[in-house]
Amino acid sequence: MKFNDLTRRNFITAVTATTVATAFSNVIPAFGNTPRNTGKLAIHGGTPVRVKVWPKWPAMIADEKLIDSVVKTTKSGIWSRIQSPTGTVATFEKEYARLMGTQLCIGTGSGTQALATSVEAMDFGPGDEIITSPYSDFGTVSAILTSRALPVLVDLDRDSFQLDPEEIEKKINKNTKAIIPVHIMGMPCNMERIMAIAKKHDLKVIEDACQANFAKYQGKQLGTIGHLGCFSFQASKQISCGEGGAIIGNDEVLMDRCFTVQNHGTNRKGFNVTIGPKYRMNEFEGAVLMGQIAGARARFEKRNENAAYLDSKLKGFPGLVPQKMYPGTESSGYYKYAMSYRKEHFNNADRSKFLRALSAEGINLSPYIARGFHGEPWVDEIIGLREYKALYSPARLKRYKEEMQMPICDLVCNEEMVVLEGVASLLGSTQDMDDVVNAIMKVYENRDKL
Ligand SMILES: *Cc1c(COP(=O)(O)O)cnc(C)c1O
Repeated sequence: MKFNDLTRRNFITAVTATTVATAFSNVIPAFGNTPRNTGKLAIHGGTPVRVKVWPKWPAMIADEKLIDSVVKTTKSGIWSRIQSPTGTVATFEKEYARLMGTQLCIGTGSGTQALATSVEAMDFGPGDEIITSPYSDFGTVSAILTSRALPVLVDLDRDSFQLDPEEIEKKINKNTKAIIPVHIMGMPCNMERIMAIAKKHDLKVIEDACQANFAKYQGKQLGTIGHLGCFSFQASKQISCGEGGAIIGNDEVLMDRCFTVQNHGTNRKGFNVTIGPKYRMNEFEGAVLMGQIAGARARFEKRNENAAYLDSKLKGFPGLVPQKMYPGTESSGYYKYAMSYRKEHFNNADRSKFLRALSAEGINLSPYIARGFHGEPWVDEIIGLREYKALYSPARLKRYKEEMQMPICDLVCNEEMVVLEGVASLLGSTQDMDDVVNAIMKVYENRDKL
């Protein structure tokens, strides 16, 4: 349905229903049943849509149960996982595996460590190439660099903000060993295509599901579709302990290798068998995680409920287009509720003007990631490093630099991305969600004044 048809139809319905009672009020729906608000923008001295502040994450989940869990660990004297096979870390690993729908789980000190451990355990390193997204937390690229493999970036699908499967195959060569798809915002990548490409070229897939716990795609939870799945429990994440991470998988041999790698090369039987950093999760982190895990699934469901509500309100609205879902998407982790800002529908006002006006209305949306990784200093840095020069041919490094052009990612970063923080905000009430939509629509109705 065309935008204009939708507007006109809603307008007519609304006018018939409300003309008498509300001759001068602002209740003519523009989209869905959103009240039309043509009042003066707060940025020009009008009344803001919202004055209430949002709860703060993760402080809002620091309840008695969580605090009690940390106190118990403190008093027990079991502060490292090696002191007990039934401590908080081991208990959490079992519980998290169950919740994520997998056999095995290994806790680590961060999501970055989970990714680096996975790369190392698969024996990828110097001379190898690993394909990933330019639009993520830098931990994704950092995990590849730590092993001295080459992170090969692939441009985005403009509407999903995920690495574009159509671009992946162009970057595969004989040294390519793996793909690390990033489920950005917690929304599933096009895993069907990615797994098919991986199979065709005999590549491993490590899912960066750091923003995506519980999210489901084609009946499977994210992190269980590839060969390994990695998660983060950093402070901003939906399940959090300040800094923490996990690897999940069903391949016992590979997961044993992961354990050994993150345990400084020492295997479960206590033999020192290989190279490995020390990336162990500690018992306090396990205690914080165990203190909140019971409520995690319900919070995930609430976020999806509120996101579906926002989706319904924005349906047909061309100015902000919610993140594209690939067929097979059943839910998202909703780390962020992401939208694409289309300035041509906002009187060509730049995103920054829109965000400033919205912020004055009491709704803070953000542009999220400032720059794609292809435009950051590390690219020139590694090309100049002795190690990389020894491992990759001058021709390869020259082409590597030339291929660091990601126009879609630039467009997303510089002009289009707008996110509502999802971890705390999407736990709000319907009124909170209405505030978000009403503020957006108020700015939209006043777009000629931005
Ligand atoms: C948070 C995050 C990471 C890194 O996790 P840390 O725990 O911060 O090391 C990696 N990838 C994505 C997509 C993330 O959101």
